Parts: sequence; structure tokens; C-alpha cells
Amino acid sequence: MSSATPAHSFPDVQLFIDGVWREGSRHEGKAASQPILNPATEEEIGTLHHASRADLDDALVAAEKGFAVWKRVPAHERYKLMRKAAEILRERAEDIVPILTMEQGKPLPEARIETLAAADIIDWFAEEGRRQYGRVIAPRAEGVHQQVIREPVGVVAAFTPWNFPINQAVRKISAALAAGCSIILKGPEETPASCAELVKAYEAAGIPKGVVNLVFGSPAEISSYLIPHPTVKKVTFTGSTVVGKQLAALAGAHMKRVTMELGGHAPAVVFEDADVEHAIKLLSGAKFRNAGQVCVSPTRMLVHENLYERFVDGFTEAAKNVKVGDGLDESTRMGPLANARRVEAMEALTADALAKGATLRTGGARIGNKGYYFQPTVLTDLAADSRILNEEPFGPIVPIMPFTSEEAVIAEANRLPYGLAAYAYTTSHKRADEFARRVESGMVSVNHHGLALPEVPFGGIKDSGFGSEGGIEAMDAYVNTKFVTTLGL
Ligand code: NAD
Repeated sequence: MSSATPAHSFPDVQLFIDGVWREGSRHEGKAASQPILNPATEEEIGTLHHASRADLDDALVAAEKGFAVWKRVPAHERYKLMRKAAEILRERAEDIVPILTMEQGKPLPEARIETLAAADIIDWFAEEGRRQYGRVIAPRAEGVHQQVIREPVGVVAAFTPWNFPINQAVRKISAALAAGCSIILKGPEETPASCAELVKAYEAAGIPKGVVNLVFGSPAEISSYLIPHPTVKKVTFTGSTVVGKQLAALAGAHMKRVTMELGGHAPAVVFEDADVEHAIKLLSGAKFRNAGQVCVSPTRMLVHENLYERFVDGFTEAAKNVKVGDGLDESTRMGPLANARRVEAMEALTADALAKGATLRTGGARIGNKGYYFQPTVLTDLAADSRILNEEPFGPIVPIMPFTSEEAVIAEANRLPYGLAAYAYTTSHKRADEFARRVESGMVSVNHHGLALPEVPFGGIKDSGFGSEGGIEAMDAYVNTKFVTTLGL
């Protein structure tokens, strides 16, 4: 493990309501807050202020007023303000990157990519906001004029998690703003500061007050208040399938539109004709990114029996070579897990697999007793009912399984209720095509990991949710379609 950790300052995090940064208002005599921990050291690095019910009411009023203002701002003006926010984010990136690493754990290069990618996402949605076209439909009768108009849905309630504190938030805020909506974002309580820095970029760009609001607190209390509230017209959530189903049910009970970006358990199929070295290099790189806490992480390696031993040896070697340490050390490849829950989950998943007869090729244990570090772990010879083969691992554990027939591997790929991402490695166009058609997944990537660019759709099917957070489809979630027909005008 690497240990050099340069000193960086870390901000306390407040709420942003109606264009003002403020502490949570007092409830029963005291304002609620929670400590922010550095997962590399478990030290307290800052304080996060919580919203009370009164603060949420203020945010709702602000967002309603913000919507009334923002929907009237011409698309070209909205575009200019958003582009400015992107520029500000780029200018501030080197200050934001260590903040993201300190609260979330990911290595600096990954934090840098996330921050700069956010600017790219804002730019893309800014542009897309200029291309919100309606249409005219040919009439059946003389004098009738039929048109289709796209209008912003209104106030959005958004809930984003801790694994990509900037990236998960920027997709929702940017699509909402590009469409002309206002937003109340409940950011991630464990990694709030980098999310707040993102919001500061919109603020500094001059987005009118009340259009973007940021709150933190008890997730269940906030979602159960905001989702049914009549001011909120659209709900968007990124997080676990379990919570997503609860929030989608609540939204359904109140007839609110939803986008649900939930968990996955992505199959990565290495076919007989694959370039195995290429597959090992890319899959190990993708798997240990953000210590495996990525919804589209390749999590079930399914390798043709003829390549299996080579793949297992190569992948195990790659796992052993991952340099684990404090993300602030520039040489670190994999940081700590983001919170203690993930370490406990890794220990439980490993113990379960081993108890059911799995072979531990490398890793399998927590590193040290300070910081939430877990070894890159490779397991083989797994029982079908091992939890790791059935639950989203969300950590640096890799199960590898051999397959013989292509029918069997497609069945295995589709076996779980998840359907977010799927990967294949093959040199056959026919195999790639067949895999892409038959795999039940919102996204398919063959011979590379080409997902999550702003211009391509991003979303899952089955228990992985619905709706897209990328590509032109992402805008659909934030607009209502209105049909207008007139006669004789
Ligand atoms: P969790 O299920 O308690 O929380 C997941 C996320 O949902 C967190 O951001 C949390 O703040 C939020 N949340 C929880 N209850 C909520 C509620 N009632 N209303 C609104 N938001 C709520 O678990 P966790 O320990 O934080 O994360 C573990 C699991 O969550 C992982 O195993 C993974 O499956 C999933 N997860 C998925 C993503 C993703 O990108 N899709 C991101 C983070 C976590």
C-alpha cells in the first residue's frame, strides 16, 4: 500500500437553496449535521449540514419560482449559461479533484477524469437544449393546423449516490436545465463536497437563483417528502435496485414521471476466438476502477473453457499488480472503498463463496485496520448459489467461470434480474452481433468499454431500471409532449 498523502484543505458543506448557501434551519432547537469522513484514513475531514422539513419547503418554493423564471429564458441563453458553467468547472478542476478523492477514495487520475467529464456532459446537454424540436403533422381537413410541442416538465427531484458524486449529479442537473426545468438535488451525504463544488459552478455561471437547489439529510425522509409533493413533477434516482423500487412505487402512487438508474451485475463474455490478453487488460482495468463501485462494472467473467486457465492466470496477475493506497498518492491505482459498509459486504461475499467451495486465487481480505481498503480479489470454482454470482458486488471482487457452449453462456448472462451493461470479447462479427441481439441489457460493449459518453444512451432494463441518462433520449425524460390542433387560424 502506498502512503504519501499531501495535505489538502476540505470545505464544510452547506445547503444551497434559492441561490444562497446556508446551514440547515433549527429543528427542536438544533440544526442537524453529520461528519464527513476520509475513507482512506477514517478521519473526520468536514461537516455536512442537513435540511429540516422547513428547508425542504424553502427549496420547493425556490424551485417553483426558479422554474417560472428558467422556462422563459430563451434556449440560446440557457445554452450560454450552461457552457459557462462547464468552463468554470474546468478552470476549478484541480481544486475539486483532491476534494473528490478525499471524501470518496478514488485515485486522483480517476477524480480528474470524473471532474473533466462533467464539464463535457454540461457542454453536450447545453448544445442539446438548442435542438429541442417539435413537429407539424399533416392534417386530414382543410384549415386544421396540428403541431407537437415539447415543454419542460417542471420541478425535478433528483437523488444521487456516493460512487460518482459529480458525475451522477451532473447528468441529472444538465438534462433538467437544458430542457428548461428547475431541480432539487439530494446529493450524497457521504461524499457531498465535490457535488457541492459542481453546484457552485452553475451558481458562478449565473444560473438564476432557485433553478438549482442542493439539499442533504436523511435520504428516506427527504425522498418521502419530496416525491409526493405536488410541486415536484419528475423524480430521478441513481442507486440500488432495492431503494429504486421503493421510490418508483412512491412516484407511481403520485403519478410522477421517473428515471431509475439502478444496480447491475454485468456479464463479460470472453469467447473462444477472443484476443485474451486484450480482454484481460481491459476487463481488469474496468473491474478495479473506483474499486469496483461502478454500476456498469464487469462483474461476472464468463470465459470459454479453452481460454479459461490463461485468463484466470492473467487476470490474477493483473489483480496482484494493482497498487492499492490512498487516492491522494499519484501512484495509487485503486483507493479504499467509499465506506465501511462496502468492506463488510466484501468480507461477507468472500466468506460465503469460500464456504461454498470457491478457490481464492488472490486477495480476499481487508488491508490494514485504518481506512476501508480491500484487496483486489479473484475467485474461481464458484457454486451457482454463491452470493457473489447473484448480488451486485459493488467492490473489487471478481468471480471467473468457464463455459463450453454459447447457448449456456447467453443463458447465464441473462439469468439475473439485472440488465444494465454487458460485455463481450470476440474477433467474430457474427458472434458479436448475436451476443448484442440476445443479451438482455440496456448497454452492450464489444472488445472495449465504450459506455457512458454524454452523447450515447445510458440506462438499464429489467431490475436495472428504466430511462436513459445519456444521448438524445436523456432529454425525453424532462419534457412533456403537448399536441395542439387549431382550425381556421
Ligand atoms: P443503499 O441501498 O442504502 O443506498 C444506495 C443509495 O440510495 C445511496 O446513495 C443512498 O443515499 C440512497 N438512498 C437510500 N435510501 C434512500 C431513500 N429512501 N430515498 C432516497 N435515497 C435513498 O446502499 P449503499 O450502502 O449506500 O449502497 C449499496 C448498494 O447501492 C450497492 O451495492 C449498489 O448496488 C447500490 N448503488 C448503486 C449505484 C449506481 O450507480 N447505480 C450507486 C451507489 C450504490
